Amino acid sequence: MKKPFVLDPNGPPRPADKYDAPRLMADKAPLGFHVMIKPAGSACNLNCTYCFYLSKATLAGGPGAKKMSDVTLERLIRSYIEDVTTPEVVFTWQGGEPTLRGLDFFRNVVVLQQKYAKPGQTVLNDLQTNGTLIDEQWCRFLKKNDFLVGLSIDGPEHLHDAYRKTRNGSPTFHKVFRAAKLLRRFGVPACFTIQVMRNSMDRVGPPVAGLPPSKKDRPNENET
Ligand code: SF4
Repeated sequence: MKKPFVLDPNGPPRPADKYDAPRLMADKAPLGFHVMIKPAGSACNLNCTYCFYLSKATLAGGPGAKKMSDVTLERLIRSYIEDVTTPEVVFTWQGGEPTLRGLDFFRNVVVLQQKYAKPGQTVLNDLQTNGTLIDEQWCRFLKKNDFLVGLSIDGPEHLHDAYRKTRNGSPTFHKVFRAAKLLRRFGVPACFTIQVMRNSMDRVGPPVAGLPPSKKDRPNENET
């Protein structure tokens, strides 16, 4: 079968490759794709021993330690929503540690998503976090705005604290476990991201044993 050609604005027509597929299909079917956004660049308040991303702050041409500006944020949200033509568009917020941007940044995210959402389109958010900054205010916001949270926790305390440490080398399990309990108390949908290391291979089990069951009585969820 003859391969389609694409018009390249920077040169002569060329054979299409797999990266052109979404565009070539766009006029035949709804266009859906998924963007992972790092609004704090590689900045993080932890220093996990296996982290491959902190060092990107000094990588030439890499994400650096810069934070996403409000102008870039609005442009990103507008164009992403515009380009996705499936009924659902999902924003994935990652880091570094995205909660370093603070609640006001994410309040603005929601406002901009509402501003640019197309009629009938569902806009969803998920947030990957180390959990150390999650408090009740965050939980109310996340619940009210239907965020799905991925919480990084590496298992029972001794396994988690073997790698996931603060900048000064202190353990973090109790802070993260507190965040897990808070998220559950507020009814925020959450899942756990677990790094399985050599020393935990034979001990993988419920990482958060001891979490209380979900509560039916939620705290006031209307506050943001
Ligand atoms: S929380 Fe994530 S980004 Fe931060 S140091 Fe740990 S692995 Fe790296």
